[in-house]
Amino acid sequence: MSQVVYITTEPSNRILVEGNQTEPDWIHPQLIESTDAIKGRQFRVSSPIPKGTCLLVDRPYAIIPVVDEPAQNDNLICSNPACNRRAPRHARTLCPNACTADVTWCNSTCREADSLRHGFECAWLKRYAGTIRSKWSEYDFGMLWVIVRLLAARHCQLHERTVVGESMGNWKHGWSGIESLCGSEDTWPHDSVRSWSALVKKYLRSSPALPHETSADRVLHLICQEEANSFGLYPRETGHYPLPSPPVDRGEQFAAAVYPTAAIANHSCLPNIIHKADDKGRMVFTASRDIFPGEECCISYFDLTQYTDLASRREHLRKSFRFMCQCERCVSEESTEESTEWFAMPMMDML
Ligand SMILES: [Zn+2]
Ligand SMILES: [Zn+2]
Ligand SMILES: [Zn+2]
Repeated sequence: MSQVVYITTEPSNRILVEGNQTEPDWIHPQLIESTDAIKGRQFRVSSPIPKGTCLLVDRPYAIIPVVDEPAQNDNLICSNPACNRRAPRHARTLCPNACTADVTWCNSTCREADSLRHGFECAWLKRYAGTIRSKWSEYDFGMLWVIVRLLAARHCQLHERTVVGESMGNWKHGWSGIESLCGSEDTWPHDSVRSWSALVKKYLRSSPALPHETSADRVLHLICQEEANSFGLYPRETGHYPLPSPPVDRGEQFAAAVYPTAAIANHSCLPNIIHKADDKGRMVFTASRDIFPGEECCISYFDLTQYTDLASRREHLRKSFRFMCQCERCVSEESTEESTEWFAMPMMDML
């Protein structure tokens, strides 16, 4: 159990789906989606899965870099969705419109391949990136940029008339996967929803800088979904438990992304899946132990080295993900840790 499993970025059994950038590159044939009365959508496996098996390689529907001082930072990713590799500062192609320093490509080929998608966001970034960062916050800017990139990907999907959802069973991909994500106005505190609503009205309404056909209400709903489902990207894996000795954290975040299929995974503080983005920004799920038929496959939504005791894990999940963790580990620790304070708290909304 204490042995660390390292994922490989090139699973030998990976199936590459050519020509459709909205489908995951690999879904293990025994990985299935089911619905739980309390948790909603979830992953299960239909047969025994050995430790180390790669279960999912999902492409982001939208991804943004999250770095300080992008011009000096080697972790900035290429904006071309077919690439998303790190673009080191000595070898970059910049936007001729100089929209924002966070937008870069590895080379002119990547920039040309990304012209339709970046054309959707360029004027918006140039007009609003600085204002949102200074008047609101870096976090709010990142959140709105992810939304703009979700709308941009949808724009490209419609433009390219990509056929989705046919070739891989009942999985929902692309924009229909985004529409199926959990999260709504009821999930979040009223103050947050009110603040997001103000941001939508100010910065995300259809305008010459951001022409789209999505209503302000739908964009607000999209923020509620994105906040419940986006992943941070880190240089090392998330989900090793028991923690290796000495513990290894997942490192500094360099990007954030929304994955239509990976987002189905629920949380456990004793996960059987470790996750990490590969060098193209694709989210890779790997079994960290043998998984039994019918068992749910869970990831950890946070760095397990960071929140170690029951109270801090539950408080973090309640604040950031709006549910009370009832995983096997939390329930077993309830009997050993002081939990009276928790039960004295008022009832909270469940997802
Ligand atoms: Zn590139
Ligand atoms: Zn630009
Ligand atoms: Zn838990």
